[in-house]
Amino acid sequence: MDRGLIITYYGNGKGKTTAALGIALRAVGYDQKICMIQFIKGEWDYGEIYSSNRLKPHFELIIAGKGFIGILDDDHDIQEHIDSAKAALGLAKEKINSLRYDTVILDEINYALKLKLIEEHELISVLQSKPPGVNIILTGNHLTDQVLNISDLVTEMREVKHPYKKGIRARKGIDF
Ligand code: ATP
Ligand code: MG
Repeated sequence: MDRGLIITYYGNGKGKTTAALGIALRAVGYDQKICMIQFIKGEWDYGEIYSSNRLKPHFELIIAGKGFIGILDDDHDIQEHIDSAKAALGLAKEKINSLRYDTVILDEINYALKLKLIEEHELISVLQSKPPGVNIILTGNHLTDQVLNISDLVTEMREVKHPYKKGIRARKGIDF
């Protein structure tokens, strides 16, 4: 039986979540089931929230985060972010082990790890004990040695140019 892949998209360039959504779009074409759990993100609008309604029941999106941390309009206590990240990891484990999904995307989990919202050994244990055949995609800026070791595919998104540097704001359908 196919053992399933652990895929990691990390780095400072744009395209990590987009790449994960690209795989989801591709997989839906084969009637596969995808679940995406968003760590960190939580209180903003994203196109994929609406796409998930259109791609039912193939693509399920769960917003588990409490928004960006320590910046902009973050009015949450760090403990609230920790609690929601821990709950998201618990949910991820449940989804991965449910055998209802071909692919489970843990969006921004690498960032949650960097901020120490979740324990690395807990994530690694979820990845080590995943059922064969289930693919898992991890995204977020950071890459730890353990995530690198356990992943089958690792791609770094490296910023070469980003319109943000010219003061061009995030765009609907491109950035969110
Ligand atoms: P996307 O969701 O667009 O694939 P991403 O997942 O690679 O981006 P995140 O760290 O999740 O990157 O950031 C999400 C938002 O930040 C997006 O609107 C994206 O365009 C923007 N962004 C990503 N990389 C950069 C960068 N190097 N400079 C400025 N903004 C960035
Ligand atoms: Mg992202």
